Amino acid sequence: MPDVAVVGSGPNGLAAAVVMARAGLKVHVYEAAAEIGGGTRTSQVIEEGHWHDVCSAVHPMALASPFFKAFELPRRIGLALPKIQFGSPLDGARSALAYRSLDRTADELGRDGRAYRRLMAPLVRHLDGIVETTSDQLLRIPSDPLSAAVLGIRTLEQGSPLWNLRFRRDLAPALISGVAAHAVGRLPSLAAAGAGLLLTALAHGDGWPIPVGGSSAIAAAMVKDIEAHGGTIQPGFTVTSLAELEPVKAVLLDVAPPALARIAGSRLPSSYRRSLESYRFGSAACKVDFILSSPVPWAAPGLADAGTVHVGGTRAEIAQAEHEVAEGRHPERPYVLVSQPSSVDASRAPAGKHILWSYCHVPPGSAVDMGQSVIDQLERFAPGFRDVVLQYKVTTAAQLAAYNENYIGGDFSAGLLDVRGLLQRPVVSPAPWRTPSRGVYLCSSSTPPGPGVTGMPGFHAAKYALKDIFGLGVPALGI
Ligand SMILES: Cc1cc2nc3c(=O)[nH]c(=O)nc-3n(C[C@H](O)[C@H](O)[C@H](O)COP(=O)(O)OP(=O)(O)OC[C@H]3O[C@@H](n4cnc5c(N)ncnc54)[C@H](O)[C@@H]3O)c2cc1C
Repeated sequence: MPDVAVVGSGPNGLAAAVVMARAGLKVHVYEAAAEIGGGTRTSQVIEEGHWHDVCSAVHPMALASPFFKAFELPRRIGLALPKIQFGSPLDGARSALAYRSLDRTADELGRDGRAYRRLMAPLVRHLDGIVETTSDQLLRIPSDPLSAAVLGIRTLEQGSPLWNLRFRRDLAPALISGVAAHAVGRLPSLAAAGAGLLLTALAHGDGWPIPVGGSSAIAAAMVKDIEAHGGTIQPGFTVTSLAELEPVKAVLLDVAPPALARIAGSRLPSSYRRSLESYRFGSAACKVDFILSSPVPWAAPGLADAGTVHVGGTRAEIAQAEHEVAEGRHPERPYVLVSQPSSVDASRAPAGKHILWSYCHVPPGSAVDMGQSVIDQLERFAPGFRDVVLQYKVTTAAQLAAYNENYIGGDFSAGLLDVRGLLQRPVVSPAPWRTPSRGVYLCSSSTPPGPGVTGMPGFHAAKYALKDIFGLGVPALGI
């Protein structure tokens, strides 16, 4: 019998399993889907030979996170860095581009270059401390208070109506808001500003890499490590009750909070169960995957070399689109997140063809096909885009919710990303990964530090389980 059961094989379940198996424990991972990996799966969703990331595609956080650093991810998989980390097109064949070089980025932002440099330079200088601070829960005294203050002050500015104060033109604000809008919600907001500034600083640090072969390479590297340390993985098994897992000593669940309430049932006090059941979820995504006959014909130079493109226009337009989604509407001109993996990884499509990954935000549970709105936005900044589309596939928010039990209503952030949602993940506690039931831990991104492929929720949960149940410390995780 295993010592430890892990429920769910998303990046956090796998991270938890890596840590527990490396500590010498016998680990068994259960996965509901036929394929392991959760939000890190790569599939031929349209046609053979074309490999699309079903969920996550771009991985600045996997490169920066303390878990993946300790795991030495870059030594285990290929990570392709685009020439330009991300960009935002604007009307008039203009674009704002983020290079790894802060100076080059600022130089190309014209009159706002100095303001951008002043905003970002301290964040880049304190990047290690900021990553450290944001990789744990917010309710603790930061180990590097100066770095936390540097991020905090800038978050207050960019997360408030004062966000335009330092800028005169539209390029720099569009560049920053394109990243902040990853956080799905109204702009400006503190949560979006904090996430956006961190991600922007990471672009000027180690960059925004795209795994060679797709995001599934990350899951495969963790699976290989788990199996090398005696762990086993069972796809196609949906855990519905803790009773199915007995007599393991510890269970780590990579599930949504309401699922934890159902699976653990009366093992949890009713007040805690009520908190899990009333956990707040946010807006959702409608995904659009493309096969193209050529790269996107962007009107503005440079964007063809950007790994990620934030298509939404000016800061005001992006904020308007996000406001409409928050109000429960489907914007006519949505903010569209685009990744161009085949521009850096030839293995993703046959020679001469390209794949394009995109999604836009939609209200929770939406069954609306946003394909045409996404194509219209792309055509606006890349005239002739329609002509290079060979095939495309839309996955609505409702279909995303059916694809992964954790995406309640299509919310792929595992909970609303506002300040309360960041502090109460899923409850306010000094160790929110622990549940009141001894040996039962929540390790999904509904725990701190939240969404993204960081492995950190899984790492924290495993750290507590090792200490509480087995009296063990965290093992070495490197090669
Ligand atoms: C369209 C989209 C784009 C994204 N883009 C990015 C990106 O570019 N970069 C980035 O860093 N992040 C991105 N993300 C977010 C990222 O994928 C998630 O934050 C991350 O996958 C969360 O990891 P997790 O382990 O917490 O949960 P998940 O990855 O959701 O995995 C949970 C797993 O648990 C399984 N499971 C659930 N319940 C049970 C049960 N009862 N029994 C057995 N198994 C169960 C599920 O089937 C699933 O496989 C994106 C997400 C989406 C949807």
